[in-house]
Amino acid sequence: MPESRVIGRFAPSPTGPLHLGSLLTALAGFLEARSQQGLWLLRFDDLDTPRNQPGAVDAILTTLDTFGLHWDLNVVYQSQHLPDYHDYLSQLANNEQVYRCRCSRKTLNSAIYPGTCRAQTILASEAHAIRIKTNPQVICFTDALQGVIAHDIRAQHGDFILKRKDNIFAYQFAVVIDDALAGVNQVVRGCDLLLETPKQLYLQQLLGLATPRYMHVPVIVDANGQKLSKQSYAAAVDTHNPAQTLYDLLILLKQQPPKKLSLATVNEILTWAITHWQTTPLSAITQLNALSGRT
Ligand code: GLU
Repeated sequence: MPESRVIGRFAPSPTGPLHLGSLLTALAGFLEARSQQGLWLLRFDDLDTPRNQPGAVDAILTTLDTFGLHWDLNVVYQSQHLPDYHDYLSQLANNEQVYRCRCSRKTLNSAIYPGTCRAQTILASEAHAIRIKTNPQVICFTDALQGVIAHDIRAQHGDFILKRKDNIFAYQFAVVIDDALAGVNQVVRGCDLLLETPKQLYLQQLLGLATPRYMHVPVIVDANGQKLSKQSYAAAVDTHNPAQTLYDLLILLKQQPPKKLSLATVNEILTWAITHWQTTPLSAITQLNALSGRT
């Protein structure tokens, strides 16, 4: 029987502490799930081992706890799913839907891979990435906040990588398997991943996996228009006054919390927010200094 209960998730990469942008994503995902009496799961996207930071997992867990964003079930780590990724890759290989590629980023001068290695014989012993053979197919979905997105996979994404030359499974491939294994039917995440999503739908169709509903929330940019990101060492979220921060984030999410809620506790704010959660179209970007007059 199909799972009718909403199952959402938050999937931070343990590459640094949560910044305000990732907390906004966590909060929106939590509210979207909880307002529908759904589960909200936590998964650490820890496959890109060179980028993982020691201590980041604990820092993220503590921050979520401080903000009252309590998850359901056990925490999952992508690294627990390696056998599953291998199985799904074998499925694609058996159907001749993937190929080995020895090209390096340096030798390619277009963002879209031209398919150079598609017809070449490359030995397993040579250093190689694995690419998907894409077909000219339009993938279309309606994002809950950003509207309709339609991409021609071959023309706009080309044969994208499923497994990197350094043997690390690519995010695009892993995420569809992780979400399917957990029965996730609702993905809330940052708009920086909006245009990656068609590739994931394409893979879901090839692998016979269900497609969740998607909601991409605005990314927060700093005063220079730069997206807050762990890679650019965005400041860890300030945990001194979590209630005030939650209140501010609700404003960014256009929830119109009443003024008197700004003096409430974390739990009171979350209870109000779950009851009143409403999604209206949001721009893909929100400026950090849009926060109640503060910077
Ligand atoms: N791990 C990704 C990140 O931290 C998010 C993946 C997702 O939500 O699909 O940006």
